Amino acid sequence: DADLGRAAGLVREVPDFPEPGVLFRDIGPVLADREAFHSVVDALGRVHAFDVVVGIEARGFLLGAAVAHAHGTGFVGLRKPGKLPVVADRVDYALEYGTAALELPADALIAGQQVLVVDDVLATGGTLAAARQLVDKAGAESVGASLVLELSQLGGRRTVPDWDVRTLFTV
Ligand code: IMP
Repeated sequence: DADLGRAAGLVREVPDFPEPGVLFRDIGPVLADREAFHSVVDALGRVHAFDVVVGIEARGFLLGAAVAHAHGTGFVGLRKPGKLPVVADRVDYALEYGTAALELPADALIAGQQVLVVDDVLATGGTLAAARQLVDKAGAESVGASLVLELSQLGGRRTVPDWDVRTLFTV
């Protein structure tokens, strides 16, 4: 797919963000480009059947909501702490430096639903593993995850070994 190949070239590398020594991958230019955005959203949804999309704050919202709309499903956003008025569940997880958490909104997932998790970047995998835990604890079925970019050196796949994690581009 030529548009997908072009999209890969639009990922911007930003040295020393958000802190010195980190090479940040910015997918903003991919979203801004009409053909790239459409081909990426199409490819993210080209997986086995799902009946709801779970997206991770914040860029997982942009991609996940577009996938959900294209497939005629609902969308549930996992949020960073302090944003949701009514919280159903929370998972804390370790980052390279410090900790983070994700929260599942109340009355969002239904037991037995087949969930596709969507996010932009797979780095250490901690975020994706936390998302999967929230889905599983809600009694829904995590059928897989779709992400745009995988930073393979960080080995994030190892945190979710028995899961169908698909990534469009790998660096
Ligand atoms: P992980 O938990 O270490 O896998 O980090 C993944 C989460 O952090 C995702 O929600 C990403 O949005 C974000 N993230 C980590 N590294 C990058 C990056 O280089 N560019 C954009 N987002 C990143």
